[in-house]
Amino acid sequence: MKRSNKNTGALQLEELKAVYAISRVIVETLEFDKALAEIVRLSRPVFIFDNLILYLLNETNQVLEPAFARAIGRGRAVAEELAWGDLAAKEAFESGEIFLKEPAPDPDADRLDQGFYLGQPLTVGGKTLGALVFIRFGGPAYTDEQINLAEFIAAHVSQVLEHQRMVERIANLEAGRRLGELQSDFLATVSHELKTPLGFIKGYATTLLRQDADWNKAESREFLSVIDEETDHLGNLVNNLIDSSRLQSGILEMELQDVEMETLIGELLDRWQSHYPQIQIDVITPENETHVWADPIRLSQVMENLVSNAAKYAANSRVRIEVEEDNERVFIRVADSGPGIAAEHLDQVFKRFYRVPEPRETVRGSGLGLYICHQIIQAHEGRVDVVSKVGSGTTFTVQLPKQLAPQQAQEGQ
Ligand code: ADP
Repeated sequence: MKRSNKNTGALQLEELKAVYAISRVIVETLEFDKALAEIVRLSRPVFIFDNLILYLLNETNQVLEPAFARAIGRGRAVAEELAWGDLAAKEAFESGEIFLKEPAPDPDADRLDQGFYLGQPLTVGGKTLGALVFIRFGGPAYTDEQINLAEFIAAHVSQVLEHQRMVERIANLEAGRRLGELQSDFLATVSHELKTPLGFIKGYATTLLRQDADWNKAESREFLSVIDEETDHLGNLVNNLIDSSRLQSGILEMELQDVEMETLIGELLDRWQSHYPQIQIDVITPENETHVWADPIRLSQVMENLVSNAAKYAANSRVRIEVEEDNERVFIRVADSGPGIAAEHLDQVFKRFYRVPEPRETVRGSGLGLYICHQIIQAHEGRVDVVSKVGSGTTFTVQLPKQLAPQQAQEGQ
């Protein structure tokens, strides 16, 4: 039987309170399942039903499918009611009107065989999204007031649905836009960065192989050392790309352990002095040993990135590496007295692929180094900051917790 809703009678106080509480749920609860469970809970005292099933139209195959079901009253698994629920939902959905199925009174019949079905279409902005089906076993029949209430509940469920769809739509659009942006940034940067060393390697190798030229030992050595350097550069770039995508997706695991800072810096210092003769490095550490809870390989990678940046961007500068600590944290500062970074770029330098635009591209890079530092330090529950003044220099400060909580410490072992 189909019945259009007649607005008979005002709501009782208890009903009004429930209606108000339901409206609050819509405003406050963003999670779809939680909002529905809450609506069911709030409706029950004023509107008795045993089962409630929400059907939604699957837009791909245009079939009404149960999306949420609650059995709160008498007997029976919800699943058994789906067949009848399906019919009530289909009728309400297709007609856009309330659907009622009420069996003829039979005092001898089992209550559980006497289902009273009320189907409500769910409509938002003129579009029917699905239907809500209420089931009562053994009656009584739904009164007009109760049908009013059911209609009100359905209107609110529709709002929750619409809200959820909107959130999903916005998230999809945003994800699509960001992915598109990232992909084009990625391709532009990576192809440029890969092409440069490859060009050198190919050029020098071809030159060396020329049949018509006879290179002496010094010349051959010079060409080979370019090939050697550019191969290293290419290798570093590929490693950075791999690290950055692993960090991005959270699959780069940290092997946390007790690390003594002076020892870690001491091991790197020899290499820095031979690799970066253009800078002079001073190291200042506290008298007592300073321990952090960190992955030594990843922390060395952070230090390497900061020092190699100082060598690249602040050549001929003095670089000061200073370790300090307070009760909870260890601070590692890498300061140079190079050209500095203009204020408008400072909060961008930790972003993936970000490079400060330079009029002449004198220094090569991919904009991945500081992003990787930031992600690694974040994975240690620490932070990295930068302060800089154009013309005076740049200081990067890494903060690490002295000790992580015991549970996190265990996870790292
Ligand atoms: P890359 O060096 O590969 O370009 P990074 O992520 O390491 O990428 O650095 C991002 C940008 O920050 C660099 O392009 C550079 O402009 C700037 N930068 C980093 N370190 C310094 C520094 N010590 N002095 C001046 N500019 C720096």
